[in-house]
Order: sequence, then structure tokens, then C-alpha cells
Amino acid sequence: MLFKNVTLLDTKSKSNYYEKKSQEISEPSEDVQIEIKKVLSGKKNPVECSDSGRFFEDEKSLKMHQSKILIFKKKILVINFYDQSGHQTGID
Ligand SMILES: [Zn+2]
Repeated sequence: MLFKNVTLLDTKSKSNYYEKKSQEISEPSEDVQIEIKKVLSGKKNPVECSDSGRFFEDEKSLKMHQSKILIFKKKILVINFYDQSGHQTGID
């Protein structure tokens, strides 16, 4: 009787295991994953930033985000430039 119960449990856990496995195998395609990301981002008509993969409400917010990054990159360039010239004058 006890043995029977154990076998029943075993079969059940086995079927759970295979259920999980089959869920792992049937991964959504790339298109579906993009759709899921869109839904998860909570935006109605989101646009994706090709650099960071983040979603934005519309083209306008995407451009704002990208221009912020551009400004940031320019600042880094300027800092590097002054840093280098500073080193050069230091050598002189
Ligand atoms: Zn980005």
C-alpha cells in the first residue's frame, strides 16, 4: 500500500518534470519575445533603442534618450581631450 503511494507520487513528480521540460523547450520565438517585451514595457506603441534595447513611448522620447547619451559621450570626449592636453602641458 505504502509502495503504491510512493509510485503514484513518483509518476506525478515525473509528469511535473516533463511538463516543466516541455515548457522550457517551447520557448517563444524572437518575434514573440519582442512582443512580450513591448507589453511588459507598458507602452502603447513603444520604440526600441537599438543601442540599449530599452523601450520608449514614441520616437520623440527615444530621440531624447539618444541625445542624452550623445551629450554624455561628447562630455567624455571633451574630458578626455582636456585631460590629454593637460598631460601634454605637464610634460612641457
Ligand atoms: Zn538606448
